[in-house]
Amino acid sequence: MKICIICQKDVEGKSAIPVKEDQIIGTIRAVKQFFHIAANNELYVCEDDVQVHLERRKSFERSLIFFGVLAAIVVLLLIGNMLLSGRFDIFAFISAFVIGAFILLFALVFKYAPAIEKTPSLVGKPSLPLELEELDKEEKPQEKKVRKR
Ligand SMILES: [Zn+2]
Repeated sequence: MKICIICQKDVEGKSAIPVKEDQIIGTIRAVKQFFHIAANNELYVCEDDVQVHLERRKSFERSLIFFGVLAAIVVLLLIGNMLLSGRFDIFAFISAFVIGAFILLFALVFKYAPAIEKTPSLVGKPSLPLELEELDKEEKPQEKKVRKR
């Protein structure tokens, strides 16, 4: 089924923006398939929910930066503390990174909102219109500008 990730409704025949399949979605899918609970839906954001989704995406990006900085500080503190004590403990060294990874995972699991394509398309059409392919070429420099901000 083709569903909207915000309202969970079927978007067949409606105007909706496809969700970019990334590694996180791939991982969630693989986990679900392992437990045999995969729905194998195609993911979209319907036009009515675009604003809601963009807010969630922004909030996710902000919390990822926040937790990323937090994780880095925790790892540095733990390793710094170990070095100050004068003893190199490989177990403490590894657990510092594991703790850091868990902090990042926390942000991912509870806040994750995937990226979406730039342009809505009518769901159910087999091929993309020509304009979309042109937009795709211009997309990359634009993305860089957004990330610098
Ligand atoms: Zn929706």
